[in-house]
Amino acid sequence: MEKKFEEIIEKAKYCLHCPTKPCSKACPLSNNIPEFIEKIKNQNIEEAFNILSETTIFEPICGRICPHENQCEGSCVRGIKGQSVPIGELEAFIGDYILENHVNVASLGEPIMKNNKKIAIIGSGPAGLAASYILSNNGYKVDIYEKREKLGGLLRYGIPEFRLEKKLLDDWLKKFILNNNINIHTNIELGKELNLDSLRAEYDYIILAFGANISNKMHIPGEEKDFVYGGNELLEYRNMPDFKEKNVVINGGGNVAIDSAREIKRLGAKKVTIVYRRSEEEMPAEKKEIKDAIKDEVEFLFQTNILEILDNKIECIKTELIQKEGEKRKVPVNIEGSNFALKIDYVVIAIGSHPNSQTIEKLGLKTNRWGYLDVNENYKTSDNKIYAIGDLAGVKQTVAWAAKSGFECAKEIMKD
Ligand code: SF4
Repeated sequence: MEKKFEEIIEKAKYCLHCPTKPCSKACPLSNNIPEFIEKIKNQNIEEAFNILSETTIFEPICGRICPHENQCEGSCVRGIKGQSVPIGELEAFIGDYILENHVNVASLGEPIMKNNKKIAIIGSGPAGLAASYILSNNGYKVDIYEKREKLGGLLRYGIPEFRLEKKLLDDWLKKFILNNNINIHTNIELGKELNLDSLRAEYDYIILAFGANISNKMHIPGEEKDFVYGGNELLEYRNMPDFKEKNVVINGGGNVAIDSAREIKRLGAKKVTIVYRRSEEEMPAEKKEIKDAIKDEVEFLFQTNILEILDNKIECIKTELIQKEGEKRKVPVNIEGSNFALKIDYVVIAIGSHPNSQTIEKLGLKTNRWGYLDVNENYKTSDNKIYAIGDLAGVKQTVAWAAKSGFECAKEIMKD
Protein backbone atom coordinates (compact mmCIF):
# COMPACT_ATOMS: atom_id res chain seq x y z
CA MET A 1 0.00 0.00 0.00
CA GLU A 2 2.88 2.35 0.90
CA LYS A 3 4.37 2.19 -2.59
CA LYS A 4 0.96 2.42 -4.22
CA PHE A 5 0.19 5.42 -1.98
CA GLU A 6 3.30 7.25 -3.22
CA GLU A 7 2.47 6.42 -6.83
CA ILE A 8 -1.08 7.68 -6.39
CA ILE A 9 0.11 10.96 -4.92
CA GLU A 10 2.45 11.43 -7.88
CA LYS A 11 -0.46 10.77 -10.25
CA ALA A 12 -2.64 13.25 -8.35
CA LYS A 13 0.08 15.91 -8.64
CA TYR A 14 -0.28 15.72 -12.41
CA CYS A 15 -3.75 17.32 -12.07
CA LEU A 16 -3.84 21.05 -12.82
CA HIS A 17 -6.77 21.82 -10.48
CA CYS A 18 -8.58 23.58 -13.34
CA PRO A 19 -11.02 26.18 -12.00
CA THR A 20 -13.52 25.47 -14.81
CA LYS A 21 -13.68 21.75 -13.84
CA PRO A 22 -14.22 20.26 -17.32
CA CYS A 23 -13.75 16.77 -15.84
CA SER A 24 -16.57 17.31 -13.31
CA LYS A 25 -18.84 18.64 -16.03
CA ALA A 26 -18.32 15.42 -17.99
CA CYS A 27 -19.08 13.20 -14.98
CA PRO A 28 -22.75 12.07 -14.91
CA LEU A 29 -22.67 12.45 -11.12
CA SER A 30 -20.84 15.81 -11.21
CA ASN A 31 -18.18 14.47 -8.85
CA ASN A 32 -15.99 17.32 -7.60
CA ILE A 33 -12.90 15.89 -9.25
CA PRO A 34 -10.34 18.72 -8.88
CA GLU A 35 -11.14 19.02 -5.17
CA PHE A 36 -10.92 15.35 -4.31
CA ILE A 37 -7.64 15.11 -6.23
CA GLU A 38 -6.35 18.14 -4.31
CA LYS A 39 -7.01 16.27 -1.06
CA ILE A 40 -5.06 13.28 -2.36
CA LYS A 41 -2.14 15.59 -3.15
CA ASN A 42 -2.27 16.67 0.50
CA GLN A 43 -2.34 13.00 1.55
CA ASN A 44 -5.77 13.45 3.12
CA ILE A 45 -7.60 10.45 1.71
CA GLU A 46 -10.49 10.56 4.16
CA GLU A 47 -11.27 14.14 3.14
CA ALA A 48 -11.01 13.09 -0.51
CA PHE A 49 -13.54 10.36 0.25
CA ASN A 50 -15.87 12.83 1.99
CA ILE A 51 -15.82 15.10 -1.06
CA LEU A 52 -16.63 12.22 -3.39
CA SER A 53 -19.35 10.99 -1.05
CA GLU A 54 -21.30 14.20 -1.59
CA THR A 55 -22.19 12.93 -5.07
CA THR A 56 -21.52 9.19 -5.23
CA ILE A 57 -21.67 5.99 -3.19
CA PHE A 58 -19.76 3.85 -5.67
CA GLU A 59 -16.14 5.04 -5.36
CA PRO A 60 -14.30 1.70 -5.66
CA ILE A 61 -16.82 0.44 -8.22
CA CYS A 62 -17.12 3.44 -10.56
CA GLY A 63 -13.37 3.93 -10.23
CA ARG A 64 -12.97 0.53 -11.88
CA ILE A 65 -15.80 0.15 -14.35
CA CYS A 66 -17.02 3.59 -15.48
CA PRO A 67 -16.18 4.42 -19.10
CA HIS A 68 -13.81 7.20 -17.97
CA GLU A 69 -12.46 7.81 -21.47
CA ASN A 70 -15.92 8.86 -22.59
CA GLN A 71 -16.66 10.81 -19.42
CA CYS A 72 -14.29 12.64 -17.01
CA GLU A 73 -10.94 11.55 -18.47
CA GLY A 74 -12.17 12.28 -21.98
CA SER A 75 -12.61 15.94 -20.97
CA CYS A 76 -9.43 16.27 -18.92
CA VAL A 77 -7.30 19.26 -19.99
CA ARG A 78 -4.17 17.15 -19.57
CA GLY A 79 -5.52 14.85 -22.27
CA ILE A 80 -5.41 17.56 -24.95
CA LYS A 81 -1.66 17.25 -25.43
CA GLY A 82 -0.89 14.02 -23.66
CA GLN A 83 -2.26 11.59 -21.11
CA SER A 84 -5.35 12.47 -19.08
CA VAL A 85 -5.18 12.38 -15.30
CA PRO A 86 -6.11 8.78 -14.34
CA ILE A 87 -9.25 9.92 -12.50
CA GLY A 88 -10.80 6.45 -12.33
CA GLU A 89 -7.69 4.96 -10.77
CA LEU A 90 -7.57 7.76 -8.18
CA GLU A 91 -11.24 7.26 -7.31
CA ALA A 92 -10.81 3.48 -6.98
CA PHE A 93 -7.79 4.02 -4.75
CA ILE A 94 -9.87 6.11 -2.35
CA GLY A 95 -12.53 3.38 -2.04
CA ASP A 96 -9.87 0.71 -1.57
CA TYR A 97 -8.09 2.81 1.05
CA ILE A 98 -11.30 3.23 3.04
CA LEU A 99 -11.84 -0.54 2.96
CA GLU A 100 -8.26 -1.65 3.57
CA ASN A 101 -7.58 0.79 6.38
CA HIS A 102 -10.87 0.05 8.08
CA VAL A 103 -11.69 3.75 8.12
CA ASN A 104 -14.86 4.23 10.11
CA VAL A 105 -17.45 5.70 7.77
CA ALA A 106 -20.45 4.31 9.64
CA SER A 107 -21.73 7.77 10.50
CA LEU A 108 -22.13 8.49 6.80
CA GLY A 109 -24.32 5.45 6.30
CA GLU A 110 -26.31 5.63 9.54
CA PRO A 111 -29.94 6.69 9.29
CA ILE A 112 -30.21 10.09 10.89
CA MET A 113 -33.95 10.16 11.59
CA LYS A 114 -37.01 8.05 11.07
CA ASN A 115 -40.28 8.90 9.42
CA ASN A 116 -43.24 6.63 8.91
CA LYS A 117 -42.94 6.44 5.11
CA LYS A 118 -42.30 3.05 3.54
CA ILE A 119 -40.62 2.56 0.16
CA ALA A 120 -40.40 -0.62 -1.92
CA ILE A 121 -37.48 -0.73 -4.32
CA ILE A 122 -37.63 -3.49 -6.92
CA GLY A 123 -34.15 -4.34 -8.13
CA SER A 124 -30.78 -3.81 -6.48
CA GLY A 125 -28.50 -2.66 -9.27
CA PRO A 126 -26.76 0.73 -9.10
CA ALA A 127 -30.01 2.71 -9.56
CA GLY A 128 -31.91 0.83 -6.83
CA LEU A 129 -28.96 0.94 -4.43
CA ALA A 130 -28.50 4.69 -4.96
CA ALA A 131 -32.17 5.39 -4.22
CA SER A 132 -32.07 3.03 -1.19
CA TYR A 133 -29.05 4.83 0.21
CA ILE A 134 -30.53 8.34 0.03
CA LEU A 135 -33.97 7.39 1.30
CA SER A 136 -32.78 5.15 4.12
CA ASN A 137 -30.37 7.81 5.29
CA ASN A 138 -33.21 10.28 5.42
CA GLY A 139 -35.38 8.18 7.67
CA TYR A 140 -37.47 6.26 5.14
CA LYS A 141 -38.02 2.59 5.73
CA VAL A 142 -36.77 0.85 2.59
CA ASP A 143 -37.53 -2.69 1.44
CA ILE A 144 -35.35 -3.89 -1.41
CA TYR A 145 -36.80 -6.77 -3.43
CA GLU A 146 -34.25 -8.59 -5.55
CA LYS A 147 -35.05 -11.53 -7.83
CA ARG A 148 -31.57 -13.03 -7.57
CA GLU A 149 -29.87 -14.58 -4.56
CA LYS A 150 -27.70 -11.55 -3.78
CA LEU A 151 -27.78 -7.78 -4.13
CA GLY A 152 -26.01 -5.87 -6.89
CA GLY A 153 -27.99 -6.45 -10.10
CA LEU A 154 -25.79 -5.69 -13.06
CA LEU A 155 -22.80 -5.01 -10.79
CA ARG A 156 -22.87 -8.60 -9.58
CA TYR A 157 -24.46 -10.49 -12.44
CA GLY A 158 -23.63 -8.43 -15.54
CA ILE A 159 -19.98 -7.52 -15.08
CA PRO A 160 -17.42 -10.32 -15.12
CA GLU A 161 -15.24 -11.01 -12.11
CA PHE A 162 -12.09 -9.93 -13.97
CA ARG A 163 -13.50 -6.39 -14.22
CA LEU A 164 -15.18 -6.17 -10.81
CA GLU A 165 -14.43 -8.58 -7.99
CA LYS A 166 -17.59 -9.58 -6.18
CA LYS A 167 -15.80 -9.62 -2.83
CA LEU A 168 -15.14 -5.92 -3.28
CA LEU A 169 -18.82 -5.34 -4.06
CA ASP A 170 -19.86 -7.29 -0.96
CA ASP A 171 -17.38 -5.44 1.25
CA TRP A 172 -18.51 -2.07 -0.06
CA LEU A 173 -22.21 -2.87 0.34
CA LYS A 174 -21.59 -3.86 3.94
CA LYS A 175 -19.24 -1.04 4.74
CA PHE A 176 -20.98 1.90 3.17
CA ILE A 177 -24.28 1.37 1.38
CA LEU A 178 -26.51 -0.79 3.56
CA ASN A 179 -27.87 0.25 6.95
CA ASN A 180 -30.57 -0.60 9.47
CA ASN A 181 -33.30 1.25 7.60
CA ILE A 182 -32.91 -1.12 4.64
CA ASN A 183 -34.57 -4.55 4.66
CA ILE A 184 -33.41 -6.96 2.01
CA HIS A 185 -35.69 -9.57 0.41
CA THR A 186 -33.89 -11.77 -2.11
CA ASN A 187 -35.19 -14.49 -4.47
CA ILE A 188 -38.42 -12.51 -4.89
CA GLU A 189 -39.48 -11.41 -8.35
CA LEU A 190 -42.09 -8.91 -9.42
CA GLY A 191 -44.76 -10.70 -11.45
CA LYS A 192 -44.09 -13.98 -9.63
CA GLU A 193 -43.89 -13.87 -5.83
CA LEU A 194 -44.67 -10.15 -5.81
CA ASN A 195 -47.37 -8.08 -7.48
CA LEU A 196 -47.91 -4.40 -7.89
CA ASP A 197 -51.35 -4.33 -6.22
CA SER A 198 -50.07 -5.73 -2.93
CA LEU A 199 -47.09 -3.36 -3.06
CA ARG A 200 -49.42 -0.41 -3.65
CA ALA A 201 -51.41 -1.40 -0.56
CA GLU A 202 -48.35 -1.69 1.66
CA TYR A 203 -46.01 1.11 0.59
CA ASP A 204 -46.14 4.88 0.24
CA TYR A 205 -43.97 4.72 -2.87
CA ILE A 206 -42.66 2.03 -5.19
CA ILE A 207 -39.47 2.44 -7.20
CA LEU A 208 -38.97 0.06 -10.10
CA ALA A 209 -35.31 -0.52 -10.87
CA PHE A 210 -35.09 -4.02 -12.30
CA GLY A 211 -33.13 -3.09 -15.41
CA ALA A 212 -33.42 -3.86 -19.10
CA ASN A 213 -31.26 -6.84 -19.67
CA ILE A 214 -32.83 -8.80 -22.53
CA SER A 215 -30.46 -8.97 -25.51
CA ASN A 216 -31.65 -7.27 -28.69
CA LYS A 217 -32.11 -9.39 -31.79
CA MET A 218 -30.44 -8.82 -35.14
CA HIS A 219 -33.48 -10.00 -37.09
CA ILE A 220 -31.47 -12.05 -39.57
CA PRO A 221 -32.06 -15.60 -40.83
CA GLY A 222 -30.67 -18.30 -38.54
CA GLU A 223 -30.78 -16.24 -35.38
CA GLU A 224 -33.14 -18.71 -33.73
CA LYS A 225 -30.60 -21.58 -33.96
CA ASP A 226 -29.70 -23.22 -30.66
CA PHE A 227 -26.01 -22.28 -30.88
CA VAL A 228 -26.86 -18.55 -30.90
CA TYR A 229 -26.73 -16.83 -27.50
CA GLY A 230 -27.55 -13.38 -26.15
CA GLY A 231 -24.60 -11.51 -24.61
CA ASN A 232 -26.62 -10.14 -21.69
CA GLU A 233 -28.09 -13.53 -20.76
CA LEU A 234 -24.68 -15.14 -21.14
CA LEU A 235 -23.09 -12.74 -18.68
CA GLU A 236 -26.04 -12.50 -16.28
CA TYR A 237 -27.22 -16.11 -16.08
CA ARG A 238 -24.10 -17.89 -17.28
CA ASN A 239 -26.43 -19.21 -19.96
CA MET A 240 -23.75 -20.78 -22.14
CA PRO A 241 -22.40 -24.03 -23.57
CA ASP A 242 -18.91 -25.48 -23.10
CA PHE A 243 -16.77 -23.12 -25.20
CA LYS A 244 -13.55 -25.14 -24.88
CA GLU A 245 -11.67 -25.30 -28.18
CA LYS A 246 -14.59 -23.71 -30.07
CA ASN A 247 -14.76 -20.92 -32.63
CA VAL A 248 -17.01 -18.17 -31.32
CA VAL A 249 -18.17 -15.01 -33.06
CA ILE A 250 -19.54 -12.10 -31.03
CA ASN A 251 -21.59 -9.50 -32.85
CA GLY A 252 -21.50 -6.02 -31.32
CA GLY A 253 -19.27 -3.10 -30.36
CA GLY A 254 -20.07 -2.21 -26.75
CA ASN A 255 -18.79 -3.36 -23.40
CA VAL A 256 -21.17 -6.36 -23.30
CA ALA A 257 -19.57 -7.61 -26.53
CA ILE A 258 -16.08 -7.10 -25.12
CA ASP A 259 -16.94 -8.62 -21.72
CA SER A 260 -18.57 -11.65 -23.39
CA ALA A 261 -15.55 -12.14 -25.67
CA ARG A 262 -13.01 -11.93 -22.84
CA GLU A 263 -15.09 -14.23 -20.63
CA ILE A 264 -15.46 -16.81 -23.41
CA LYS A 265 -11.73 -16.66 -24.11
CA ARG A 266 -11.10 -17.36 -20.42
CA LEU A 267 -13.44 -20.34 -20.68
CA GLY A 268 -11.05 -21.94 -23.17
CA ALA A 269 -12.43 -21.02 -26.59
CA LYS A 270 -9.96 -21.61 -29.43
CA LYS A 271 -10.82 -18.45 -31.33
CA VAL A 272 -13.06 -15.54 -30.37
CA THR A 273 -13.81 -12.89 -32.99
CA ILE A 274 -15.76 -9.69 -32.45
CA VAL A 275 -17.61 -8.63 -35.59
CA TYR A 276 -18.56 -4.95 -35.65
CA ARG A 277 -20.27 -3.10 -38.48
CA ARG A 278 -18.45 0.22 -37.97
CA SER A 279 -14.73 1.04 -37.55
CA GLU A 280 -12.60 0.67 -34.40
CA GLU A 281 -12.71 4.45 -33.74
CA GLU A 282 -16.50 4.34 -33.62
CA MET A 283 -16.77 1.38 -31.30
CA PRO A 284 -18.78 2.35 -28.19
CA ALA A 285 -16.55 0.15 -26.01
CA GLU A 286 -13.73 1.93 -24.23
CA LYS A 287 -10.30 1.93 -25.89
CA LYS A 288 -8.85 0.42 -22.72
CA GLU A 289 -11.33 -2.47 -22.90
CA ILE A 290 -10.47 -3.04 -26.57
CA LYS A 291 -6.75 -3.12 -25.71
CA ASP A 292 -7.38 -5.58 -22.88
CA ALA A 293 -9.39 -7.78 -25.23
CA ILE A 294 -6.52 -7.76 -27.75
CA LYS A 295 -4.17 -8.79 -24.91
CA ASP A 296 -6.57 -11.67 -24.22
CA GLU A 297 -6.14 -12.65 -27.90
CA VAL A 298 -9.65 -11.68 -28.92
CA GLU A 299 -9.71 -10.89 -32.64
CA PHE A 300 -11.69 -8.11 -34.33
CA LEU A 301 -13.36 -7.80 -37.71
CA PHE A 302 -14.37 -4.19 -38.21
CA GLN A 303 -16.74 -2.83 -40.86
CA THR A 304 -18.38 -6.20 -41.20
CA ASN A 305 -22.04 -7.18 -41.03
CA ILE A 306 -23.49 -10.63 -40.45
CA LEU A 307 -26.12 -11.46 -43.08
CA GLU A 308 -27.10 -14.98 -42.11
CA ILE A 309 -26.30 -17.66 -39.55
CA LEU A 310 -25.96 -21.07 -41.16
CA ASP A 311 -24.92 -24.41 -39.65
CA ASN A 312 -21.20 -24.20 -38.79
CA LYS A 313 -20.68 -20.87 -40.56
CA ILE A 314 -21.95 -17.34 -40.88
CA GLU A 315 -22.26 -15.30 -44.03
CA CYS A 316 -20.68 -11.86 -43.63
CA ILE A 317 -20.35 -8.78 -45.80
CA LYS A 318 -17.98 -5.82 -45.59
CA THR A 319 -19.38 -2.33 -45.03
CA GLU A 320 -18.40 1.21 -45.98
CA LEU A 321 -19.24 4.14 -43.74
CA ILE A 322 -21.27 6.85 -45.41
CA GLN A 323 -22.29 10.23 -43.99
CA LYS A 324 -26.01 10.59 -44.59
CA GLU A 325 -28.03 13.75 -44.19
CA GLY A 326 -29.64 14.07 -40.78
CA GLU A 327 -27.46 11.31 -39.25
CA LYS A 328 -24.93 12.20 -36.54
CA ARG A 329 -22.80 9.11 -37.11
CA LYS A 330 -21.67 7.65 -40.40
CA VAL A 331 -23.97 4.85 -41.48
CA PRO A 332 -22.53 1.41 -42.35
CA VAL A 333 -23.67 0.33 -45.81
CA ASN A 334 -23.03 -3.18 -47.13
CA ILE A 335 -20.55 -3.34 -50.04
CA GLU A 336 -22.16 -5.41 -52.74
CA GLY A 337 -20.20 -8.53 -53.67
CA SER A 338 -17.89 -8.40 -50.65
CA ASN A 339 -19.54 -11.44 -49.01
CA PHE A 340 -17.43 -14.02 -47.23
CA ALA A 341 -18.02 -16.90 -44.83
CA LEU A 342 -16.62 -17.51 -41.34
CA LYS A 343 -16.50 -20.92 -39.70
CA ILE A 344 -18.16 -20.88 -36.30
CA ASP A 345 -19.35 -23.17 -33.52
CA TYR A 346 -21.24 -20.50 -31.56
CA VAL A 347 -22.54 -16.98 -32.11
CA VAL A 348 -23.19 -14.40 -29.39
CA ILE A 349 -25.36 -11.37 -30.14
CA ALA A 350 -24.41 -8.32 -28.07
CA ILE A 351 -25.99 -5.36 -29.84
CA GLY A 352 -27.79 -3.73 -26.91
CA SER A 353 -30.65 -4.73 -24.66
CA HIS A 354 -34.23 -3.90 -23.79
CA PRO A 355 -36.61 -4.50 -20.86
CA ASN A 356 -38.54 -7.72 -20.43
CA SER A 357 -41.74 -6.88 -22.32
CA GLN A 358 -43.83 -9.58 -20.59
CA THR A 359 -42.98 -8.25 -17.12
CA ILE A 360 -43.62 -4.68 -18.26
CA GLU A 361 -46.98 -5.48 -19.85
CA LYS A 362 -48.25 -7.07 -16.63
CA LEU A 363 -47.55 -3.86 -14.71
CA GLY A 364 -50.21 -1.97 -16.67
CA LEU A 365 -48.06 1.19 -16.72
CA LYS A 366 -47.57 3.42 -19.74
CA THR A 367 -44.54 2.59 -21.89
CA ASN A 368 -42.75 4.63 -24.53
CA ARG A 369 -42.27 3.59 -28.15
CA TRP A 370 -39.00 1.80 -27.35
CA GLY A 371 -40.65 -0.43 -24.74
CA TYR A 372 -39.24 1.33 -21.66
CA LEU A 373 -41.46 2.58 -18.86
CA ASP A 374 -42.65 6.07 -19.66
CA VAL A 375 -41.51 8.49 -16.94
CA ASN A 376 -41.63 12.25 -16.53
CA GLU A 377 -38.55 14.37 -15.73
CA ASN A 378 -38.84 13.26 -12.09
CA TYR A 379 -38.92 9.53 -12.94
CA LYS A 380 -42.63 9.26 -12.09
CA THR A 381 -44.55 6.70 -14.15
CA SER A 382 -48.19 6.92 -15.23
CA ASP A 383 -49.06 5.88 -11.64
CA ASN A 384 -48.51 8.63 -9.04
CA LYS A 385 -47.07 6.26 -6.45
CA ILE A 386 -44.69 4.47 -8.79
CA TYR A 387 -41.31 5.63 -10.07
CA ALA A 388 -38.95 3.94 -12.53
CA ILE A 389 -35.19 4.51 -12.69
CA GLY A 390 -32.07 3.24 -14.41
CA ASP A 391 -32.15 1.21 -17.60
CA LEU A 392 -35.84 0.39 -17.12
CA ALA A 393 -36.65 4.05 -17.69
CA GLY A 394 -34.33 4.23 -20.71
CA VAL A 395 -31.54 6.02 -18.82
CA LYS A 396 -28.15 5.80 -20.63
CA GLN A 397 -26.75 2.39 -19.85
CA THR A 398 -23.84 3.13 -17.52
CA VAL A 399 -23.49 2.66 -13.78
CA ALA A 400 -23.03 6.39 -13.11
CA TRP A 401 -26.11 7.41 -15.09
CA ALA A 402 -28.18 4.73 -13.36
CA ALA A 403 -26.95 5.92 -9.96
CA LYS A 404 -27.77 9.52 -10.88
CA SER A 405 -31.37 8.54 -11.66
CA GLY A 406 -31.58 6.75 -8.29
CA PHE A 407 -30.30 9.77 -6.38
CA GLU A 408 -32.58 12.20 -8.23
CA CYS A 409 -35.65 10.02 -7.84
CA ALA A 410 -35.02 9.63 -4.09
CA LYS A 411 -34.66 13.40 -3.68
CA GLU A 412 -37.90 13.90 -5.62
CA ILE A 413 -39.77 11.54 -3.30
CA MET A 414 -38.37 13.42 -0.31
CA LYS A 415 -39.92 16.64 -1.66
CA ASP A 416 -43.33 15.02 -2.09
FE1 SF4 B 1 -7.33 17.90 -13.13
FE2 SF4 B 1 -7.87 17.11 -15.67
FE3 SF4 B 1 -9.87 17.91 -14.08
FE4 SF4 B 1 -8.07 19.72 -14.97
S1 SF4 B 1 -9.55 18.55 -16.21
S2 SF4 B 1 -8.89 19.51 -12.87
S3 SF4 B 1 -6.22 18.45 -15.02
S4 SF4 B 1 -8.55 16.10 -13.76
